[in-house]
Amino acid sequence: MRSIPIKTTEEIEAMRHAGKILTQTLDLLERSIKAGMSTKELDQMAEDFIRSYKGCTPGFKGYHGFTGAICTSINQEAVHGIPSPDRILEAGDIIGLDCGVYYKGLHTDACRTVAIGVVDHDIRQFMKITRKSLQEGVKQIKPGGHIGDISAAVQTVLERFDYGIVEDCTGHGVGHELHEPPEIMNVGIKGTGPMMEPGMVLAVEPISTMGEGDIKTAPDGWTLYTADGSLSAHFEQTVLVTEDGHEILAG
Ligand code: MG
Ligand code: MG
Repeated sequence: MRSIPIKTTEEIEAMRHAGKILTQTLDLLERSIKAGMSTKELDQMAEDFIRSYKGCTPGFKGYHGFTGAICTSINQEAVHGIPSPDRILEAGDIIGLDCGVYYKGLHTDACRTVAIGVVDHDIRQFMKITRKSLQEGVKQIKPGGHIGDISAAVQTVLERFDYGIVEDCTGHGVGHELHEPPEIMNVGIKGTGPMMEPGMVLAVEPISTMGEGDIKTAPDGWTLYTADGSLSAHFEQTVLVTEDGHEILAG
């Protein structure tokens, strides 16, 4: 198994800078998004914003041939939706906005799911709880803790509300590669898995559904959607393991 990279002070400084811009990109998208917009418009907005900072580029663009600066996953789409001028947002949709900023050879990665206009209370609750599962997972991040502590915390929150967990998708280490060791499952057992050490940077990302956790791949080869057609939500943060706990770098 490949070892988990430990970042240098310089690398952490670069990721902190990129992470700040990534968080601001998501803030901008969340503020601007409305019915009638295409997912391509959001994509362009994100790309322009990221590139307005010297040395920063959208980390997803060109990744294994992905064409967007962001992934836009609407309703039953769980992850990796491709921005398109033909996908127009409607009131009542929910959309996952997943984005990465690349700076000085390092990636950061974060996602939020937001609603377009007014959505039903149970959908609001679903998004809120998925975000809560991320927060509870991130709370486990500290030196001496195990990766399984994160997984177990995410799973506990989502299962308490009987939401589906997309087990085929996982969180991951992030740095010189967008996806590095370790794999961070969204189900797991406390006290198992690799031990966390200061300097590790982890992307924690619960992906939940209002039904079952099974997913299928769309004909575009990228978009993963729920097999039962239920809504899906996705939240992600890039988090540094510090000497005495953690620091959220992005999201
Ligand atoms: Mg992501
Ligand atoms: Mg990720």
